[in-house]
Amino acid sequence: MEQEEAEPHVLMFPFPALGHVNPMLKLAELLSLSGLRITFLNIHRIHQTLVLHTNLQSRFSRFPKFRFQTITDGLPPNYTGGLTKLSELTHSMEAVTKPLLRQMLVSRQLGPIPTCIILDGFFSFMVDVDAEPKIPVFCFRTVSACSFWAYSSIPRLIEDGQLPVKGEEDMDRMIEGVAGMENILRCRDLPSFSRVGDQTDPILQYSVNQTIQSSKAHSLILNTFEDLEGPILSRLRSRCPNVYAIGPLHAHLKSRLSGEITRPEPESSNGYWKVDRSCLAWLDAQPSKSVVYVSFGSVTVMGDRQFREFWHGLVDSGRRFLWVVRPNLVGGKDGENGIPAELVEGTKERGCMVGWAPQEEVLRHEAIGGFLTHCGWNSTLEGIVSSVPMICWPQFADQLTNSRYVSEVWRIGVDMKDVCDREIVARMVNDVMENRRNELMGSVIETAKLANTSVEEGGSSFRDLERMINDIRLLWRRRIKRSFPPA
Ligand code: UDP
Repeated sequence: MEQEEAEPHVLMFPFPALGHVNPMLKLAELLSLSGLRITFLNIHRIHQTLVLHTNLQSRFSRFPKFRFQTITDGLPPNYTGGLTKLSELTHSMEAVTKPLLRQMLVSRQLGPIPTCIILDGFFSFMVDVDAEPKIPVFCFRTVSACSFWAYSSIPRLIEDGQLPVKGEEDMDRMIEGVAGMENILRCRDLPSFSRVGDQTDPILQYSVNQTIQSSKAHSLILNTFEDLEGPILSRLRSRCPNVYAIGPLHAHLKSRLSGEITRPEPESSNGYWKVDRSCLAWLDAQPSKSVVYVSFGSVTVMGDRQFREFWHGLVDSGRRFLWVVRPNLVGGKDGENGIPAELVEGTKERGCMVGWAPQEEVLRHEAIGGFLTHCGWNSTLEGIVSSVPMICWPQFADQLTNSRYVSEVWRIGVDMKDVCDREIVARMVNDVMENRRNELMGSVIETAKLANTSVEEGGSSFRDLERMINDIRLLWRRRIKRSFPPA
């Protein structure tokens, strides 16, 4: 028997953005815990940054059957466009990375021929399922089921004239005909890529096509759980061959690691920037549930004016706050614009600012009472699991749909979409911290319980992950049978 037939082997390949790589790494750790052989393929530049700022190496060094491999995205080493130039990135990956990946597979540079590839569904074009060697693709979409469903509905909305968005659009117009989302979705809650006047817009086309491709893959993996998105998941199941809902992945991993004796500490860090743990000591000194945690994720940028509106709003709210001001948050350029001196002065009393926080730990801290977030899906799930009600300021992609579900469906926060005004910031912060606190806390505590139950033994996400692992082993056994039929 050749090396590749000795045991199942999974190749994992995340889209090169932190919000995609983080959950893929968590899934890799979960699969490694189950004993599977994993090869994790990362884009060079992402991998180098993660190695520099996180405990990535030590975190995976305890899995003898796990290894990292890297590949180029085809862009020059000093390229800084990143996600802001999505089409440059995807064109380059299609032209350079895709053929290289196939070559690496065929030449066994990535190890034995994988039993399956867990591929980020945001670049499902990366693997041609019909090309040799034929390898089943499990598409992992790192977004919510509700936003995935909204993306899938875009071609129909274009067909019946509800999209594209017209010149003087009423963004509060209700979207009709998206099954399961009647009376929920307004025009402004659709994924941001649909806010274009031209339906041939390349990013709109790209996002829709990738969603359609993900639905056709051998399997679709989602970082969500039945009790949160059950109705949408059952609709997806009627369209996609096989869906695994295995989230929230960070809670799932934590739960499965809780029985482990040798756990690398402090805890897995996520990020492209050095984590500033000093904010934990600052939080220790604050009263229980008194602090608003403010973070806009790894990609969102804001103008100077917006930054100042938030700052005034936070100070005017009279609440304590811990704010992650990434080096490239304001204006989007590293080091430029800095933090205004008056902000530093004005927040001395009640505020703390860091460049990058250990977010999962921060959200679990006793002092945190609210989360002002851009509603990236990882942040939303992290807020839910820690029972922290949210103030949402979504900016792009799935965030616009997530924030609608947070405020109107799950009722665990308030939505500040499309507005950036100090009075509204202050009002919404106080709604979450005081005026609507009981109501929001009631639902978020209940949702957190459901999230945690889903990842415990017997829970829906726990069972779906077991099913997925068994299915991978089954695929391998079938391949062996085909290669070595009984005499
Ligand atoms: N994050 C972090 N420290 C920070 C800010 C964010 O560790 O100071 C992590 C956060 O826990 C989450 C990820 O970065 O896992 C952001 O992912 P998300 O999907 O929320 O947003 P994106 O960065 O993709 O917009």
